[in-house]
Amino acid sequence: MSHSDTDIDTDTGTGIDTATRRHADQVAPRHAPTPARAMPDHVDVLIMGGGLAGLTLALQLKGRMPDLVVGVLERHAHPVPVAAHKVGESSVEIGGHYFADVLGLKDHLQQKQLRKFGFRFFFSDGHDRIDQVTEIGASRHLAVPSWQLDRGIFENFLAEEAVRRGVHFVDGAAVQRVGLQDSDTPHRITWAPRGTAGAPRDTTARWLVDACGRAGLLKRQLGLAQDNAHACHAVWFRIEARIAVDDWVDPQDNPGWHQRCDPPARWLSTNHLVGPGYWVWLIPLASGSHSVGIVADPRLQPLSEMDTFERAMTWLQQHQPRLHRALEGHRHLLQDFRFFKRFSHGCTQVFSEHRWALTGEAGLFLDPFYSPGSDFIAIANTYITDLVAQDRAGRRIAQRARVYDELLHSFHDTTMALYQDQYALFGDPEVLPVKVIWDYTYYWGVLAQLVFHRRLTDLAALGDLKGELAQCQALNVAVQAYFRDWSVHSARANPPRLRDQAAMPWFAELNRSLLDTLDDAAFRARIRASTALLRALAQEIVDRSTHAHAGAGLQADGVRDVLAGGTTAPSTTSTTLSTPAAPAAPGHRTPITEAMARAALLDGVFP
Ligand SMILES: Cc1cc2nc3c(=O)[nH]c(=O)nc-3n(C[C@H](O)[C@H](O)[C@H](O)COP(=O)(O)OP(=O)(O)OC[C@H]3O[C@@H](n4cnc5c(N)ncnc54)[C@H](O)[C@@H]3O)c2cc1C
Repeated sequence: MSHSDTDIDTDTGTGIDTATRRHADQVAPRHAPTPARAMPDHVDVLIMGGGLAGLTLALQLKGRMPDLVVGVLERHAHPVPVAAHKVGESSVEIGGHYFADVLGLKDHLQQKQLRKFGFRFFFSDGHDRIDQVTEIGASRHLAVPSWQLDRGIFENFLAEEAVRRGVHFVDGAAVQRVGLQDSDTPHRITWAPRGTAGAPRDTTARWLVDACGRAGLLKRQLGLAQDNAHACHAVWFRIEARIAVDDWVDPQDNPGWHQRCDPPARWLSTNHLVGPGYWVWLIPLASGSHSVGIVADPRLQPLSEMDTFERAMTWLQQHQPRLHRALEGHRHLLQDFRFFKRFSHGCTQVFSEHRWALTGEAGLFLDPFYSPGSDFIAIANTYITDLVAQDRAGRRIAQRARVYDELLHSFHDTTMALYQDQYALFGDPEVLPVKVIWDYTYYWGVLAQLVFHRRLTDLAALGDLKGELAQCQALNVAVQAYFRDWSVHSARANPPRLRDQAAMPWFAELNRSLLDTLDDAAFRARIRASTALLRALAQEIVDRSTHAHAGAGLQADGVRDVLAGGTTAPSTTSTTLSTPAAPAAPGHRTPITEAMARAALLDGVFP
């Protein structure tokens, strides 16, 4: 394959090269897809698109309602190629939990994919030595696992597993037309089986789910597309080789750098090489390939400088010279090259009382910086599964569909604040380490707690906690704005040290707390404790940074106003973050309450 000018637009779905097809031949499915003729004329749920979102939804539906008749129509022929199949290869805690525990796929993840060594960031813009710059990451595994997903291996497995569990999965089947019904009449879907000779077929379905990714069939048909103001772009490629950042530092030269991590295997992390206006991802794949991507804000790093492999390499030579050197010797192992001019998009509605829904990229997509794609698939699929189950039980779903739609949009909007207009500070070694701690405290403390403790559909609990959730949201918006201002004044010192998150006992404990089992009262107390934790953290962020930049006029009023307006006072005794099922005994201290009491949440992170 020539790789000098592979400027492929994946919106067209073209551009799989011969090297990746060769891989596909090595992966024979154990359970062949359903022949087109075996797809029933009527199903309970028809899922259009058998990618990550569609196949996992099929498994979740069958897990909850084993006798439900579920059909999946997937345009690609199976098995799909490994390695260079799709983007979306790094999972974080919610997605990992969804695949492993909700869908019961832990064995596959442990045996066929790579366990991720958390996320890791190097402030290496223009630097050849990553051991001479600030690194953010954990020196050991935290309690909750996540995985690096070779998407080809995973989708082949998901399709086999779906067939094994009784799903009617037809590959090489393209949906052509959708006839939606508002009344109780089934929807009608026209699709073309594999091969041009196959006459179009009609299938009717009580529920119709669009999981077609960016093809967005229902979104287009119903005019649901919504632009957002997050105009970033991404380019990526796969190399049939290991890009091991560990090998970039000579152990003789700097043994201490290697000894900092246990296991000494940073290559298993999702490594982010960051700079002003951009980040580069390095994700190892179980097939032996490595995924490399550049994600950037065009105001600072134009797409035209990286939209072919050659241009991306020239750009890397300037911005990430060590990576460029590592890739230079592997040019002949390039497997693909793709880009999105603008990857983020909104959608006005994703769930309907009229028995249709959108999941995955067919609905909303934020930004890949913290890999939330699988998280939002997990959340949307959980809502869809519950709507189907409620409908099946003969209950009215209009109100639930509306509330779930509002909740998903609210999680989306809150998470968007982490990314939008924040790319300029990604190259800031003073501010980004603190922002990462804030963002993860928000993620583990609130959204991940809702998912791990299975409270996404618990409308009574969510109603009770409305005030706390709104307060966290308001605080997050104010803190994100504050980071932007702080970065204007930051000294951007870039000392060669690891900001080690595993060495922050409260942060490690917050991660571990996701594994607790909580009754209703303990769950409510948990979210209140997280609100108190976020308040304490916000206070400490503004106190420390305004002190460090005294006289610079940092604008902390927005954060202070939200803190003054809140009602949940930071508490040193009442948190249940590490005493799951019962309130903590008076005076009982946990790593979290200890750190809050001493205003020491940012020790080890703050410069
Ligand atoms: C640059 C970038 C990086 C990302 N990185 C991550 C990451 O690290 N981690 C993460 O969790 N997420 C990431 N994501 C998001 C990730 O891509 C999504 O989470 C995931 O791939 C979406 O899955 P999906 O099933 O919605 O779409 P897809 O996986 O694209 O599946 C859609 C399926 O629908 C099929 N289809 C399309 N049209 C038809 C039709 N007419 N008939 C039948 N079938 C059809 C397609 O063939 C395809 O298989 C990233 C996204 C981007 C843009």
